[in-house]
Amino acid sequence: MNKHFDLNDDRVVVVIGSGAGGGTLSAELTAQGIDVVCLEAGATPLLEQNVPAVYGRTRWSDPRTVEGDLNPDMPVMIAKAVGGTTVFWTAVTLRRQPHDFRSLTTYGALPGTSLIDWPLDYDTLAPFYAEAEQRMGASGLHGKPDVPDHNNGEVLKIGARRRGYKHVSNGHLSVNTVPHDGRPQCRQMGFCTGGCVIGAKWTSLQAEIPRAQATGHFELREQAQVVTIEHDAGGRVTGVVYVDAKGERQRQRARAVCVAANGIETPRLLLMSQSGRFPHGLANDAGQVGRHWMTDLLGRVIALMPGPVHNYRGTTNTGLVADDIRHDPSRGFAGGFLYVSRGIHLPVWPNEWSPGEWGADYAKIMEQYPNMASAAVIGEDMPVADNRITLAAEVKDAHGMPVAHLTKRYHANDLALMDHALKNGEEIYRAVGAQQVYTSMSRTVIHNLGTCRQSRDPADGVCDAFGRTHDVPNLFISDGSQFSTSAAVPPTLTIVTLAIRQARHLAGQLKANAL
Ligand SMILES: Cc1cc2nc3c(=O)[nH]c(=O)nc-3n(C[C@H](O)[C@H](O)[C@H](O)COP(=O)(O)OP(=O)(O)OC[C@H]3O[C@@H](n4cnc5c(N)ncnc54)[C@H](O)[C@@H]3O)c2cc1C
Ligand code: SF4
Repeated sequence: MNKHFDLNDDRVVVVIGSGAGGGTLSAELTAQGIDVVCLEAGATPLLEQNVPAVYGRTRWSDPRTVEGDLNPDMPVMIAKAVGGTTVFWTAVTLRRQPHDFRSLTTYGALPGTSLIDWPLDYDTLAPFYAEAEQRMGASGLHGKPDVPDHNNGEVLKIGARRRGYKHVSNGHLSVNTVPHDGRPQCRQMGFCTGGCVIGAKWTSLQAEIPRAQATGHFELREQAQVVTIEHDAGGRVTGVVYVDAKGERQRQRARAVCVAANGIETPRLLLMSQSGRFPHGLANDAGQVGRHWMTDLLGRVIALMPGPVHNYRGTTNTGLVADDIRHDPSRGFAGGFLYVSRGIHLPVWPNEWSPGEWGADYAKIMEQYPNMASAAVIGEDMPVADNRITLAAEVKDAHGMPVAHLTKRYHANDLALMDHALKNGEEIYRAVGAQQVYTSMSRTVIHNLGTCRQSRDPADGVCDAFGRTHDVPNLFISDGSQFSTSAAVPPTLTIVTLAIRQARHLAGQLKANAL
């Protein structure tokens, strides 16, 4: 049940964003008896198996300006909805490796990068990882069965085995292979990116928000977009100003504020919260807010097979080849990557194969859709200080606030890694009889990391190992913005893991009046 808190109630914790980070943090804080107001810019989405319709209704469509290598028409794909981007996600749930927390030590100071080590290590996170996997119902772990095989995954797995890969499996998905957490077993209906109508896929919308609501300590205000975080003369945050569903500005007071608005909107909000005390933006005394933007590298390998594959059936990402997640400089680059089979819906896929074309040739490609198999490459990208989120000088959003300006230029290491991954990806599909293979690097990003990163030294980042900002004691970063470096695996399990750990720490501090 949604509780109601007064705007002047300064005992509450305000959580900004209801996605992977914000939803989990809200559920954990309220489970500890802490009162939480979660402010979410989007509305509760209507789910169906029509991917373009759901995406059209729930995506973050406010304008952004773009500089560098990304697709200017669609640089980023994230949601503005209750549940955040977990509504769209395809649920690949993998842990980072121990060396992923010691990136500078492991890779050395690569020229042009801003690598650092995390202020925490794998062993510290391991018990929280286990908790997050169990909470999300990760398949193939903690006694849960694997997701069943299906053709698209099998084509990748058979090809990889023929090429000598050893770490070939169905991976781990936050998809219920048996009923779990009051949600049913997956029915293999496919099109997970449109949201899972039955709730078999873990989303913040269907798992964490209801969990928080059940505690009686939680209020979700949807269509409530925060425009500034306010502070007192001593530099402690006192609350936030948001625009409500009617377009009116409201001020919610708070004891602490946790920002989980995804790696672009989180730094944008801090930069918009500039003041006399924080002239360059909140928690930005060291000039680090918005910098080191990492997106993970995303590549696609699409193969035309001699017979039908029906890639769209079943869970979107069944089939994992994880041999290359290791760091092995003999390949000519630092960091690693993985292949994961990827099913996707008709209007997008042929268009990726033959971008911009139409007419008879395009129709021919469309007709071959049932015979297509595909994998995504997900790889580590390097932090670069000038890859960053700033405020656009001219363009404003509907509330009169400056939109995010995105600057992303790939580092030479990123391009070498992707080149290697795509060439070997093609070989995998050739080994299983592909007639044609199309490979490309995506210029639309789906992971946003590092823009308010954790650092041991306040000069190198924005927050500490609990996500608490170095400059403001009661302001926390609670999403992928706090990652010090990216990795060869996708980020959401780690976002949820960090949120659980942060919630325990924050609740302890609040109960002890130590914040
Ligand atoms: C197609 C797709 C597939 C993916 N598949 C995977 C996968 O298989 N595995 C994986 O690990 N990751 C995957 N991801 C990434 C995953 O969805 C994100 O890592 C995760 O959702 C990020 O969590 P978050 O809490 O940082 O942000 P989000 O989940 O995006 O939540 C942020 C929320 O904050 C709200 N917000 C923003 N600004 C404000 C404001 N000013 N005021 C109020 N609210 C605000 C937004 O509306 C949004 O709801 C995928 C993403 C996409 C797009
Ligand atoms: S394949 Fe399973 S998890 Fe994905 S949308 Fe269908 S029922 Fe949900």
